[in-house]
Amino acid sequence: MLNIGCHLSVSKGFSNMGKVASSIGADTFQFFTRNPQGGKAKDLDEKDIAAYNEYAAINNFAPIVAHAPYTLNPCSDNPQTRDFAEMVFTDDLKRMELLPHNYYNFHPGSHVGQGVDKGIVMISALLNRILKSEQSTVVLLETMSGKGSEVGSRFEELAEIIANTNLNKKLGVCLDTCHIFAAGYDIVNNLDGVFTEFDRIIGLNRLKAIHLNDSLMPLGSHKDRHAKIGEGLIGKEALIRFANHQAVKNLPFILETPNELDGYAAEIKLMKENYK
Ligand code: FE
Ligand code: FE
Ligand code: ZN
Repeated sequence: MLNIGCHLSVSKGFSNMGKVASSIGADTFQFFTRNPQGGKAKDLDEKDIAAYNEYAAINNFAPIVAHAPYTLNPCSDNPQTRDFAEMVFTDDLKRMELLPHNYYNFHPGSHVGQGVDKGIVMISALLNRILKSEQSTVVLLETMSGKGSEVGSRFEELAEIIANTNLNKKLGVCLDTCHIFAAGYDIVNNLDGVFTEFDRIIGLNRLKAIHLNDSLMPLGSHKDRHAKIGEGLIGKEALIRFANHQAVKNLPFILETPNELDGYAAEIKLMKENYK
């Protein structure tokens, strides 16, 4: 069975997201832990979360994915920005324990001209300060398109962050199809080759979740523009082949395509119909 869902608004709470997910044929979803531009997180309603946890268990939901705000940058050259990243990350991980055994996905960061090596050191340093052996959440590094000075558009960079992190049994990778395509990994013509490379450099055992998106921008463009499934340069067939690959079996798939709920429902239906 394909575990698939989409990004949902957290504004009406977790029980609501569970029900909305079911109503569009989803059994997982992604949400922002707070405003994507950063800022203070809403107080959590523990009753609502407990109700969601029960609903998810009864309905056999796959793990869900929390997404950190885009402004979280552990390798900024500004110490205040790095402090903010640490504060948000620490607080989010604490809150995630109310939703145990799920994923927390973040963009590794932008080195803003300091160089990718320095960026990697700062990202692992933050992870070394905040990961705890008792946490149930697995933190996911998202594969990036490489726009601007983004770290994490090469598998080697993610592997190095993981290698430099002591508690790396708490780390995994979320593969975004739009981002890796824009980063230059040809999942259209060389899908097996890309997974072989992922396995050799990072290890497929680290792959925990998928962001399933088409891409408006071409292979290797390093531009991050998501498209609806079949309306971009990856294309419907390639995305269906991707979802059916042995390397991603049983992983939660999250659509981050530019859609409203009805559009997501149609894409979920399409992917399920074409899942063998
Ligand atoms: Fe993301
Ligand atoms: Fe993504
Ligand atoms: Zn993106």
